[in-house]
Amino acid sequence: MPTRPPDSGNSFNEYENAGWRSCIVCGTAEFKGIVYFDSGSVSPTVGETVTGATSGDTGVIEAVYLRSGTYAGGDAAGCLELTSATGYERENWTMFQDNEALNGSTSGDDFSTVNGIGSVVVNGVLYPQKDMIEYQGKWYCRPHFEWRFGHEWKTEDIHKTGEESKRSYD
Ligand SMILES: [Zn+2]
Repeated sequence: MPTRPPDSGNSFNEYENAGWRSCIVCGTAEFKGIVYFDSGSVSPTVGETVTGATSGDTGVIEAVYLRSGTYAGGDAAGCLELTSATGYERENWTMFQDNEALNGSTSGDDFSTVNGIGSVVVNGVLYPQKDMIEYQGKWYCRPHFEWRFGHEWKTEDIHKTGEESKRSYD
């Protein structure tokens, strides 16, 4: 059973340094911020950096979903998906504060207002390194290693018992 990733640091590199890995088949794990906004007066731009005016939390816009209202009318409401989330609250996996202004590197200060509290999710799977197999310079979870290479290994080790065969790529 994997233990919880460490609480320190904001970057995925620190998780890697602490012994956590992504499987190349499962996909690279990343932190994604989800924040709902209202009072939107400027259409946000994918790729711009968003900063909470009060919290200082930041993220880079990956997707914008307009749910109601219009930017021209100053009442646009919707959702932003952010990559490279920083400053989030690790105890509750939240970011930003309700009703704080959002400042955009392209859209300008106070282009919209946080509605509710944003959240941070981990997309993809992180495994403890001890549960991973490094093969030909790439990291695999055990099921995907078995799926991809198990047949070749079993053919090579056909005379061995299952346990010895398993041990041979530990
Ligand atoms: Zn995998």
